[in-house]
Amino acid sequence: MQQADFDVIIVGAGPSGSACAIYMGKAGKRVLLIDKATFPRDKTCGDAISGKSMAILKDLDLVDRVAKTGAAKINGVLISSPKGIAAEIDNPKPDETFLGFVCKRQMFDNLVFQEAKKHATVMEGLAVMDLIFDNSRVVGIKAKDAKGQDHEFISRMVVGADGATSVVAQKLGLELMDPPNTSIAVRAYYDGVEGMTNRIEIHFVDEVMPGYFWIFPTGDKNEANVGLGMLVDARQERNVNLVKLMDEIVEKNPLMKGRFKNAKKKGKIVGWNLPLGSKPREMVFDGALLIGDAAGLIDPFSGEGIGNGMLSARVASKVILKAFYDNDFSKQNLGEYRDELLKEIGGEFKNSTRLQRFLKHKWLLNFAIKRIHASKEFRDMLAGTFINESPIDRISITPGTLWRMLIAR
Ligand SMILES: Cc1cc2nc3c(=O)[nH]c(=O)nc-3n(C[C@H](O)[C@H](O)[C@H](O)COP(=O)(O)OP(=O)(O)OC[C@H]3O[C@@H](n4cnc5c(N)ncnc54)[C@H](O)[C@@H]3O)c2cc1C
Repeated sequence: MQQADFDVIIVGAGPSGSACAIYMGKAGKRVLLIDKATFPRDKTCGDAISGKSMAILKDLDLVDRVAKTGAAKINGVLISSPKGIAAEIDNPKPDETFLGFVCKRQMFDNLVFQEAKKHATVMEGLAVMDLIFDNSRVVGIKAKDAKGQDHEFISRMVVGADGATSVVAQKLGLELMDPPNTSIAVRAYYDGVEGMTNRIEIHFVDEVMPGYFWIFPTGDKNEANVGLGMLVDARQERNVNLVKLMDEIVEKNPLMKGRFKNAKKKGKIVGWNLPLGSKPREMVFDGALLIGDAAGLIDPFSGEGIGNGMLSARVASKVILKAFYDNDFSKQNLGEYRDELLKEIGGEFKNSTRLQRFLKHKWLLNFAIKRIHASKEFRDMLAGTFINESPIDRISITPGTLWRMLIAR
């Protein structure tokens, strides 16, 4: 085998790839972090940084730096039903702590990337086009820069952190578009939406069911990140144009039109795919691992992927370090990554998938939100789902428990 240029090559410098670079670099590995974009770059997102992301940010000592960007500090969730009944679930200790941030991805990702730069060699504006194999083992990458020049780098390990359209995953033979396990969502920024608080707002408006419409305050004066999303197969079935749907809701929905009457859309409505964890995909290969969206780790109900992406970076780093210790980069030895990760988040994926199916029954959601104040257990479960403060896998969501929670007074 050729001499390795690096110990680990990480493809993609979003929150997952940058977090992985920080963990690996801190452990003394020679890391190459590559991104096709030049930072700061934007990423289409709702910008909500949930409790799970907060845990990793704490681990990386980045919470205060995110707070200093002016990101909104979130202290509650407002949920409204298709019938327009709203329930508010608030942080019981707002003076002591806050639950998460809404931080525009251009700022958030750049902050984590700048931290990664301290621990890795970084190359921006370099698109990975292919993998280099030695028999069936991945041993490096082939890339092209903005001038069309070719580059090749050899490493002991390759980590695919290149998002929902991952080239690394495709070159490893994965089919990325799987409609029942993929959502599609659009978002735009608006100035001047009325009635915003420090809560993130999830509205199960009729037009978007079985998905939801959101309003998240960004912390930038009176600005909000506004968007909607649904499963790809639901969108295909209804043949709905999400950009048009969003404009229609803002203009005509009885709950929204008053709040948006003086609001100004900034820029275009943009969309992107969300590969969901409802059917965990293959993420371990000889000499390579996938993390974040490249591994399909987005919560099937809430649509959050930053926290799971950064968590997967932490778990992957631990397993890669052990592989260096064992000097064994085989799929079998790296398999612990998938096992450990699914041990941590597999239960959540199952429960979130059940909740996602629950959304298909509109009457049940109307009923549930109406009853939400009657059942603390139910309230806590939903708060946990949206903010990820309490892992929802602690609650066994069977039709029986749901029913008991719904009828509790
Ligand atoms: C509309 C929308 C709303 C969302 N809202 C939320 C939310 O509020 N909260 C939340 O937690 N999650 C949300 N998500 C999900 C979240 O955006 C993703 O889960 C998250 O970005 C995953 O991070 P990542 O680092 O794995 O991938 P990404 O953030 O996608 O980063 C991948 C990086 O790889 C680079 N790259 C891609 N291909 C190549 C290549 N060939 N060579 C080199 N570099 C490459 C890209 O430039 C990019 O920088 C939302 C998603 C969408 C679409």
